[in-house]
Amino acid sequence: MELSERQKKIVEIVKADGPITGEKIAGRLDLTRATLRPDLAILTMAGFLDARPRVGYFYTGKTGTELLTKEIRKYIVKDYQSVPIVIKEDESVYEAISTMFLEDVGTLFIIDEDHHLTGVVSRKDLLRASLGKQDLNDVPVHIIMTRMPNIEVCERDELLIEAAKKLINKEIDGLPVVKKTRNGYDVVGRITKTTITQVFVELVSSKHI
Ligand code: ADP
Repeated sequence: MELSERQKKIVEIVKADGPITGEKIAGRLDLTRATLRPDLAILTMAGFLDARPRVGYFYTGKTGTELLTKEIRKYIVKDYQSVPIVIKEDESVYEAISTMFLEDVGTLFIIDEDHHLTGVVSRKDLLRASLGKQDLNDVPVHIIMTRMPNIEVCERDELLIEAAKKLINKEIDGLPVVKKTRNGYDVVGRITKTTITQVFVELVSSKHI
């Protein structure tokens, strides 16, 4: 959150002389208490200042970055995941390309007969497969997919920031959200770079920071 010049001044005053009453802060800035009230409310709500009845305002010692970090750690995968698009591993590369267009996604998750995750196919995987001479109807998608155990996954209760780190570290566009079963992973959701971008935009309009 970007503080206004006046809000920055208030923080400086409280930092230097807190605990200090709203009245005194107003006096120092040559403003009325009423004029200052919205700024004090914002600074308290955002966590920069704390207010104690009959004592006044004091500085919490938290920087904007600390407060932002705290806010970001409230974002959990399950609240932001989108619907995963899956296809069976014996479907053809042609079918995979059609599904990608129809569903408007960049990553497909590949599953076996038991609906367990066995691989991932990206746009470039499909482009690469299309460069060959084979008929794409005859090539099963499991031939070209990135397969388990090399698939990076995340779980519903994981922090979204941890999922974002996996996307960056592995240089990939998407992660399957999985639920562990006895013999593998069920695919229950999808986290992509778009998910993270949406949250980034949402943070700016968040009333909490
Ligand atoms: P693109 O290749 O279209 O740019 P990605 O960057 O997501 O898309 O994929 C790069 C490579 O990583 C591809 O070969 C893809 O199969 C593989 N890949 C994609 N997602 C994952 C994942 N979650 N875990 C492991 N490998 C993945």
